[in-house]
Amino acid sequence: MFADIKGLNEECGVFGIWGHPDAAKITYYGLHSLQHRGQEGAGIVVTDGHRLKGIRGEGLVNDVFNEKKLESLPGKSAIGHVRYGGAGKGGLENVQPLLFHSQSGSLALAQNGNLINANDLKHQLEMQGSIFQTTSDTEVLAHLIKRSGYLTFKDKMKNALSLVKGAYALILLTETELIIALDPNGLRPLSIGKIGDSYCVSSETCAFDLIGAEFVRDVEPGELIIINDEGLHAERFTLSSSNAMCTMEYVYFSRPDSDIEGINIHTARKNLGKVLAREVQIEGDVVTGVPDSSISAAIGFAETAGIPYEMGLIKNRYIGRTFIKPSQELRERGVKMKLSPVRKVVEGKRVIMVDDSIVRGTTCKRIVRMLKEAGAKEVHVCISSPPMKNPCFYGIDISTHEELIASEHSVEEIREIIGADSLTFLSVEGMLEAIGRKGYGKNCGQCLACFTGEYPTEIYPDTLLPHEKELNSY
Ligand code: SF4
Repeated sequence: MFADIKGLNEECGVFGIWGHPDAAKITYYGLHSLQHRGQEGAGIVVTDGHRLKGIRGEGLVNDVFNEKKLESLPGKSAIGHVRYGGAGKGGLENVQPLLFHSQSGSLALAQNGNLINANDLKHQLEMQGSIFQTTSDTEVLAHLIKRSGYLTFKDKMKNALSLVKGAYALILLTETELIIALDPNGLRPLSIGKIGDSYCVSSETCAFDLIGAEFVRDVEPGELIIINDEGLHAERFTLSSSNAMCTMEYVYFSRPDSDIEGINIHTARKNLGKVLAREVQIEGDVVTGVPDSSISAAIGFAETAGIPYEMGLIKNRYIGRTFIKPSQELRERGVKMKLSPVRKVVEGKRVIMVDDSIVRGTTCKRIVRMLKEAGAKEVHVCISSPPMKNPCFYGIDISTHEELIASEHSVEEIREIIGADSLTFLSVEGMLEAIGRKGYGKNCGQCLACFTGEYPTEIYPDTLLPHEKELNSY
């Protein structure tokens, strides 16, 4: 993934396991395979059947955990989280799982996604005396669960979930149960696996391969699943569910070796490239992809266009969070930290550069310039998704129109800004055909809001900034 340079960041990844002697270690490995979904914080909470204990910290999974720390987390069940500091912003207090203790029992929560009415609910709760320790919307859920007047934990959960709106792939841990819930639109992926007799749950199926678990099934929108020593019990907390899986999971966020609802991400991306090549019909000498997320689409494009695929750009893999970034002056003198062109591949060639999306346009502009400086005769930019014109309120950190170049500029204007010889985006219809989700009804059961402006949920005024309220008031 290349989240940091594109300016398009997923909020989080969640993982949980019930009934395994090495629960903390398995969760650590699970979080490793979800690291691309968040690099700013990680945490694990375990239960030994009597009490919950957790460790969390800022940084990568490896920065936060070592052998000794994992050994200090005994217990047969655990949940974990990797975080990108979006809605609640950064800071240790916002790193999940959030852990709460009370006389009636403890509770740990880890969430992927964004509650769009969190501010409203928080305001109401504060008026009723609640005090919040974090700025995370996940804490709102904890308050709603604890304050609910229902008797059983399951009914408290259902009551709390009926009040929140937006995107949430949620896992909770109590002393005796692992609880899973997915929002009524299923905006974020969440799958169940099994390792021996132990159930596990993960934001992406790639975690199952790493820990040797077999895939059982995807969690369905509006589903509430309780796992305990008696097994797995699934029911619905709402009957009004309608699939709207985030399309950008297929296009950009998820790992190529993950499957979402039966569709492999690499295959979907390759198909995006194939359909794009069919729509563009451009002439070129060589096709190259922007690593890592656009490689699959570039391979598909090359295959259909009958133009050789070459490694025209190389990603420097070893830049850590603490790397000393070059000054503006050094950057201008050509110090390139994250990507390098392969001169011998692009020199004198008409290069077709496939990328998965354009957000602000700054990265794309830099790459086009880099290819031209390396001798490319022409650079034709082909994007394997439609122009992103609208903000996302469901857990991706593009929350204003200003952050999106396509919201204020035509395709021709963007072409000029990025300095490409041509620029083409995939059509919405082409994207749906390429991903190939069948039998889901409207929009193939996908959220297309950032492309079309058609949001699968109502949009709450407090989610928007003042100028956006105007834009959304028609
Ligand atoms: S608006 Fe775009 S990024 Fe956000 S959930 Fe929908 S498809 Fe995904």
